[in-house]
Amino acid sequence: MAIDLLDFDTEGLAAWLVARGEKPFRARQVMRWLHRDGEADFDQMTDLSKSLRALLAAEAEVRKPTVMRDAIALDGTRKWLLDVGTGNGIETVFIPETNRGTLCISSQVGCALECAFCSTGRQGFNRNLTAGEIIGQLWHANRALGADLAAGRRVVTNVVMMGMGEPLANFDAVVTALRVMLDDHAYGLSRRRVTLSTSGMVPWIDRLREACPVSLAVSLHAPNDALRDVLVPINRKWPLQALLAACRRYVEGAARLPVGIDDDEEALPPGSVARTKWQRQGSPRDFVTFEYVMLKGVNDSPMHARQLVDLIEDLPCKFNLIPFNPFPDGGFERSPAAAVSAFQAHLIEAGFVATVRKTRGDDIDGACGQLAGQVQDRTQRTARRADAAAAP
Ligand code: SF4
Repeated sequence: MAIDLLDFDTEGLAAWLVARGEKPFRARQVMRWLHRDGEADFDQMTDLSKSLRALLAAEAEVRKPTVMRDAIALDGTRKWLLDVGTGNGIETVFIPETNRGTLCISSQVGCALECAFCSTGRQGFNRNLTAGEIIGQLWHANRALGADLAAGRRVVTNVVMMGMGEPLANFDAVVTALRVMLDDHAYGLSRRRVTLSTSGMVPWIDRLREACPVSLAVSLHAPNDALRDVLVPINRKWPLQALLAACRRYVEGAARLPVGIDDDEEALPPGSVARTKWQRQGSPRDFVTFEYVMLKGVNDSPMHARQLVDLIEDLPCKFNLIPFNPFPDGGFERSPAAAVSAFQAHLIEAGFVATVRKTRGDDIDGACGQLAGQVQDRTQRTARRADAAAAP
């Protein structure tokens, strides 16, 4: 079977080419054709030798994603359902804003982690995506949105690995795809514009810091272990103190490139500025984004806000409060706007940056926590739920 060229980063492609008698620099040329030009036809790669084009035609292919559904919301949010075979589909969402375009990418078909409030988690898990299937989402979006990187027309300016799946549970493929996103011969995104969101797989947070320190987001959702054990069950394995220690190591160990506060979230309330305890001490640097889904009557009280302040102390971070997006049989309700505002105000008063995520793409289920794709569950989760529901 032909290999998928989208599976490679530049280093991997160079090794593959050298093993076939080609010069390593050819990898950079091929990467540019693939990712900057979005070219999948080897005959169009005109600065490659005829013999190399023949080699690629004989042994390789560009496995383009197949679109099963393409939906555009009233607010311009666009969601693709991409076919990944054997009855499975993954979702990729593009969120256009005035100054940026953010692509939300999936890393697995479903998810095995069963966070209580998550639509993807309810679907069960089928398999990890390949590096080609991960970067293929960006490749496809650029083509579909009319980007031309070679001519300087960039449409996707930011990537967030917050779609279906836990990215760190598919570590090698995700890191390969991240490297392609940052590679100047491919997408050339700055590492501050690429964010990986994890539910808290502590050992892999350390590995990511060494392998490819992009911006880190953590799905926190609770200020104490008892509640987080319920909402994010992986907390039973790696509780909050271990998770926060890993976050601290990540921030301290990441390369010392300046990373400022992104301005892509809702404006802070009047009178508060993007200033945290850590920022007051010096110039902006790396920080962790803590995501906190606001669940009515579950984690949204003033007591929870106080616990959160005490828990985080002076870790360089910002909070992103996410209004819950209800889904059928989800079992949770969205916190009232007043509760979200009070929670946000408490964090800001304590000196943290805290923003509220705008809800986008509601009418196409493209909002956070609503990505469900199409998953042939291999965990028997769906059957277990049905059994539990049927039990007397
Ligand atoms: S929130 Fe993330 S890690 Fe948790 S079940 Fe959903 S996709 Fe998986």
